[in-house]
Amino acid sequence: MYSEMMYQYGSQRSVIREIFAYGQEKIRELGPDAVFDFSLGNPSIPAPDSVKEAVFDILEQESPIAVHGYTAAQGDLQVRQNLADSVNRRFQITVGPDNFYLTCGAAASLCCAIRALTNPGDEWIVFAPYFPEYKCFVMAAAGVVKEVPPRLPDFQVDLAKFEETISEKTKAVIINSPNNPSGAVYSKETVQEMTDILKKKEKEYGHPIFLIADEPYREIVYGDVEVPYLPEYYEDTIVCYSYSKSLSLPGERIGYILVPDQVTESEKIYSAVCGAGRSMGYVCAPSLFQRVIGKCVDDIGDIEAYKKNRDLLYGSLTDLGYECVKPDGAFYLFVKTLEPDANEFCRKAREKYNLLLVPSDSFGCSGYMRVSYCVAYDMIERALPLFEQLKKDYE
Ligand code: PLP
Repeated sequence: MYSEMMYQYGSQRSVIREIFAYGQEKIRELGPDAVFDFSLGNPSIPAPDSVKEAVFDILEQESPIAVHGYTAAQGDLQVRQNLADSVNRRFQITVGPDNFYLTCGAAASLCCAIRALTNPGDEWIVFAPYFPEYKCFVMAAAGVVKEVPPRLPDFQVDLAKFEETISEKTKAVIINSPNNPSGAVYSKETVQEMTDILKKKEKEYGHPIFLIADEPYREIVYGDVEVPYLPEYYEDTIVCYSYSKSLSLPGERIGYILVPDQVTESEKIYSAVCGAGRSMGYVCAPSLFQRVIGKCVDDIGDIEAYKKNRDLLYGSLTDLGYECVKPDGAFYLFVKTLEPDANEFCRKAREKYNLLLVPSDSFGCSGYMRVSYCVAYDMIERALPLFEQLKKDYE
């Protein structure tokens, strides 16, 4: 009668959405100041002024027929040229407009890239802790997810376990750095070693193993931390980018897939990406916001506010005795829960203190909670005494 798999995905809401919905109900009941919602990764800084200016310029200066009309399935040519110019300026790689396919954000980029590459039974390697939707995207494409456990306590990559996980059936590896939920940024050394392993395995098995760089947080790093650009290290890299976080535009649904010429059979893979977009109805990303990103290619929001939040939350929680690694990027803290069952711990925090924290199990890792700090600074200040009470409950 209907697809059992799609029913399962639709009827079991993600844990994050569940907690967020609980918070919304509590806000209606108790008022906004009584609820401390650290559940979602919804940017809390406004889009930069350049976005607003671009929207007004486009609406005033361009033909409304063009602005609100269909673009080419893969996106407006001039916008793709602007994206290519930006990538060529910033990184050691040469790409052109025909290497880009514009999408409705990183989720659509990942879905298209995964569909484009997967034949039934192909294996996809992910590193725990990982973005929970990877599983849904890969399984819907008839692929199989293989998890690599984290290297503790720093949440960098366990290279030995990574190597053990690669098999003849490995189609691709997804790397998300800066990472949701750990905030870890993979160092140059880590990336170098990972890609050396992949090159060795490509030779051993005689077929390409693709690297998918899931990069919505590329621009959100603190201090002088560098995020290595994966295509510079490994030719078979496909980039899935999004403006949801860097320009604070998650609701506008805009991002891209980049398939550089250096990727094995790049033209065929690019065509398969177009085919995946077509088969899922993801053609022609939102036209107005294609034009906006074309004008704001090198802009980012004022991420200083996230750094201030990170410093307050990390400093205060570790002073209270919570254990966590200082994140170099993204806007999440991944904190050890005070009892082994993270679901139970987060339930108590929610029901006793209205502290909304996300248990780590759906990220492929037990015993932690994700605390999103893309929130108002004063909410963190007001929540700290509750984190203190919660800690005392376990002493
Ligand atoms: N990948 C990761 C690691 C994410 O954290 C998210 C969103 O939070 C996405 C992909 C999806 O991003 P988008 O909103 O651009 O679809």
